[in-house]
Amino acid sequence: MSYFNAMLVEKNDEGKTNASIQQVSKADLPEGEVTVSVEYSTVNYKDGLCIGPGGGLVRTYPHVPGIDFAGTVEESSDDRYKPGDKVVLTGWRVGENRWGGYAQKARVPADFLVPLPEGLNTRQAMAVGTAGLTSMLSVMALEDHGLKRGDGPVLVTGAAGGVGSVAVALLSKLGHEVAAVTGRADQADYLTSLGATEIIPRDELSETSRKPLEAERWAGCVDAVAGAMLGRVLKQMKYGTSVAAIGLAGGAAIDGALITPFILRGVNLLGIDSVMQPFTNRQRAWARIAQDLPMDRLESMIQPATLSDLPKLGADILKGQVKGRVVVDVNA
Ligand code: NDP
Repeated sequence: MSYFNAMLVEKNDEGKTNASIQQVSKADLPEGEVTVSVEYSTVNYKDGLCIGPGGGLVRTYPHVPGIDFAGTVEESSDDRYKPGDKVVLTGWRVGENRWGGYAQKARVPADFLVPLPEGLNTRQAMAVGTAGLTSMLSVMALEDHGLKRGDGPVLVTGAAGGVGSVAVALLSKLGHEVAAVTGRADQADYLTSLGATEIIPRDELSETSRKPLEAERWAGCVDAVAGAMLGRVLKQMKYGTSVAAIGLAGGAAIDGALITPFILRGVNLLGIDSVMQPFTNRQRAWARIAQDLPMDRLESMIQPATLSDLPKLGADILKGQVKGRVVVDVNA
């Protein structure tokens, strides 16, 4: 097949973008050692931006968005991969400054790929996606900084979103009590089904506090929100514990934050980046996902989609209206 289906975002002379499904030639794929027959992709906040005007992430048009994908190697000029190998890609700015996974084919440098671990298929890999990989990297960072089962409740903010949902399921499977913060009361049952032991309404943590410290509550935190919530949470961390900061759904600043949690309680703020993460850590995280993520709970998070659903889903995720994990079957 020298032509394949792709979501192409084009920009007109007035600077307005338009996304549509088109037939694209294989000859138009970017340079790279490995051509992948894509099976599944997913929808992230950045995808929402790139399906629309790009938010400064996309530099050249026409563009194929899709910041992550999983599929089967079709051709490879790199010894590490051969036709038939199952692979997953996240990060490296694929889908932003080069063509991504919203297509039946993608071509990328071999260094960007990770072999799919035993026990995970391509659909499950995209149910995990960048969001789930980031959750796993967060849990690994909290563990590397001392988090153990029995230490007390671990807080997950933005819990009904992509990163939050996977973090709740992972932490619960690992035997932690999980407190889930959500602004959507109607998602309480969903979060409980993923393993949350306590639901905290977003309002409880969305006001800044002038206090230097609050009562010690959390043994760890995966924070997707930042803003006033992170400022509050830092003051509620138990002595010597850590917060993995992964996102900014509630704002780019840490509102109301003080130095007191760091110097009086030895709290750590751990930055988590999934985009430029080195290969060995990616491989370790994917192996842990295959081992520790309960696949039945992952299944319950999946919202199936096709390429033609993407314009609506892209707009929805920018409004914080996507629940759990969207899995896009690019061949449907
Ligand atoms: P989602 O949109 O799926 O989830 C974000 C969740 O945050 C929402 O579902 C909502 O949860 C909550 N939320 C949204 N707006 C607000 C608000 N104003 N105040 C408080 N809570 C809010 O996104 P993802 O889970 O995919 O990503 C979360 C964040 O992580 C984003 O900022 C994203 O850019 C970033 N990210 C970072 C990565 C990294 O490498 N560091 C990788 C992937 C994502 P609820 O409805 O439960 O309240």
